[in-house]
Amino acid sequence: MKTFDLEKFARPNVLAMKAYSSARDEYTGNEGIFLDANENPFPSAVNRYPDPYQRELKTELARIKKVREEQIIVGNGSDEVLDLIYRAFCTPGKDKVVTIKPSYGMYSVLAETNDVELVEVPLDADFNLDAAAVLEAAKDAKIVVLCSPNNPSGNLLNRNEVMKIVESFPGLVVIDEAYIDFSNGKSLLAELDAYENIFVSQTLSKAYGLAGIRVGLGFGSPKVIALLNKVKPPYNVNGLSQRFALARLNDMEKVTKEVLDILLERSRLLLEMKDHPLICKIYRTDANFILFKVDDANTMYDFFAENGVVVRNRSSQYNCENCLRVSVGTKTENDKFLEVLNEYNTTLKTK
Ligand SMILES: *Cc1c(COP(=O)(O)O)cnc(C)c1O
Repeated sequence: MKTFDLEKFARPNVLAMKAYSSARDEYTGNEGIFLDANENPFPSAVNRYPDPYQRELKTELARIKKVREEQIIVGNGSDEVLDLIYRAFCTPGKDKVVTIKPSYGMYSVLAETNDVELVEVPLDADFNLDAAAVLEAAKDAKIVVLCSPNNPSGNLLNRNEVMKIVESFPGLVVIDEAYIDFSNGKSLLAELDAYENIFVSQTLSKAYGLAGIRVGLGFGSPKVIALLNKVKPPYNVNGLSQRFALARLNDMEKVTKEVLDILLERSRLLLEMKDHPLICKIYRTDANFILFKVDDANTMYDFFAENGVVVRNRSSQYNCENCLRVSVGTKTENDKFLEVLNEYNTTLKTK
């Protein structure tokens, strides 16, 4: 097993602090008359504080993801989980995080709010990862953040390149797998027991269809999870979200079926878009969205919007000039997208 030197990489003040002890930490039984948390005693669905460690949810997650409960942290969206990582490991004004570009915008927002230097190592023209370049940039960094499948490009990063970084970088390697359920590639969760410095972030917002209840997942070595638990707000995942998430996890058949439907629609979209005269390039996707390059992204974006279809203009991102990103919707929604796309084609031809 590759070990991780928590004492060296965690923030000294966080290492030294004791976790806040809530009423629900000090007495964890379910039976009794609860006069310990200043709640309103009149029963309703939500008059009691929720479980601060989301134990039931973690039991289900451990089963589904084939990890141990002490390897899991649940956050108010994976955005919170990522924020906890920055806060537990990086001293403001001093420490450094390395990531790739183009990638998910939150990594730089979190770096700015936590006053952490962020170095962005470019992916190549087809959005492939260069492990050597990342390792070079990460010599004095605390954390490397990789996104795979990557947003906005959509591709899974090459596993050998990712593992080179995991093997050689002594700090924490965070792999954001928000879109892993749409990919044929294997999750890095399988490597969790072999590498203490791997931290995998996932979410119930995309494949699981629960963006509205904000449930993010972090998986790491028990000592990293324990450190993050010290920093997290005690009741960070509300009771309604915990119950709603649990119900969804108890119906994995439905989740799997929906993901399969999305993947079938993705294949159909790719096929229909392939020979479109106004699409210059369609990038490889392992996610539930497609990035494609056109002649003039701003004009096409406006045309879509005028016709009631909202896509994302990613033109301002590194190496994404004139690129639009479209999420895979329902069959009806995708039909409409294709219809507007073909209309745009004829509009231009008749000009
Ligand atoms: C959508 C997305 C997330 C999800 O964030 P949540 O806070 O869990 O909704 C995380 N990472 C990436 C790259 C995403 O695109």
